[in-house]
Amino acid sequence: MSEPLRLHHYETPPAELLDVPPTALRDLLGGPSLLEFPGRRQQPVFLSVLLHGNETTGFLALQRLLRRYRDRPLPRSLLLFIGNVDAAAFDVRRLEGQVDFNRVWPKTELPDCPETRLMAALVERLRRRELFASIDVHNNTGRNPYYGCINRLDGRYMALASLFSRTMVYFTRPRGVQSLAMADLCPAVTLECGKPGLEAGVAYVEQYIEDVLHLSELPELPPRDQVDLFETVARVRIPPHQDFGFDGSGQGLDLLEDLDRLNFQVLPKGTALGRFSGESMPVVVDDPDGADAEAYFQLRDGELVTRRPMMPSMLTLDGTVIRQDCLCYIMLPVAAERIADARRSKVSPDPV
Ligand SMILES: [Zn+2]
Repeated sequence: MSEPLRLHHYETPPAELLDVPPTALRDLLGGPSLLEFPGRRQQPVFLSVLLHGNETTGFLALQRLLRRYRDRPLPRSLLLFIGNVDAAAFDVRRLEGQVDFNRVWPKTELPDCPETRLMAALVERLRRRELFASIDVHNNTGRNPYYGCINRLDGRYMALASLFSRTMVYFTRPRGVQSLAMADLCPAVTLECGKPGLEAGVAYVEQYIEDVLHLSELPELPPRDQVDLFETVARVRIPPHQDFGFDGSGQGLDLLEDLDRLNFQVLPKGTALGRFSGESMPVVVDDPDGADAEAYFQLRDGELVTRRPMMPSMLTLDGTVIRQDCLCYIMLPVAAERIADARRSKVSPDPV
């Protein structure tokens, strides 16, 4: 039995942290933990890893960085939050019955629970630290490019993300994610680093974290012409009662077996996502503007097809992820005028 959820705080992180696998963090730390690493510049970078227990790239990258700095101070202080160590012990996104650790941060729409209280207490603690920047590292299960997500159209936020990738995604839903909460405190980004644990991704994130720690200040603007910015406008789910698969058996919604090849591709109207012989729409769409699935998809000749041009992200071939999270997000390019406005505005707009 694990103890009741509380935030563990390590002013002096255990030395073993640099060498243990993610599966051993629960026994080493005892629960979700905030760890302090002093650096030459005091204003800290806040880094969170393992909000999803099987998304190991951020933690592995940080371990490698810390090992290189074992005998010298970091360029800048670092506050590290290691999130769902219980799920990491089993190498799963979250345990059965657990809430999603990246949906429970302040502004969440989930009901009050131990996890929402833990994140609220953590953010209050961070608010007193005058953070330099916030970075939350994730992996995804499908074929995706590396990209950063921001929650404000603000030059510094875009600059922080553009250091990682010229591809970036702006979103304000779902609520309760780390970077949306942290955006009230400092420039904040969520990094999506492809599949977990791959050497190339670990090395890339290690370099990114080191680059950010070396910055004396965050640029007010991203380098011109190096931004491909998309906006997430809706989330697509398969309702619990709807069968689906990739096996071509024709049971329920029979999705393309290489569906994740469509990630970050502009899909013209009429692109098929799979075969479906039923009468009513097999997917539901969460759209903050209230549009329903028929606004984006239609059933035509036994196929589920797009009704308008769109770009999907987070498409995966992992049925468990589709059940626990969603089928995909729908993105549209952000209009050039809005990017130009974000570059012009040197102050943050009010939080949405
Ligand atoms: Zn994640």
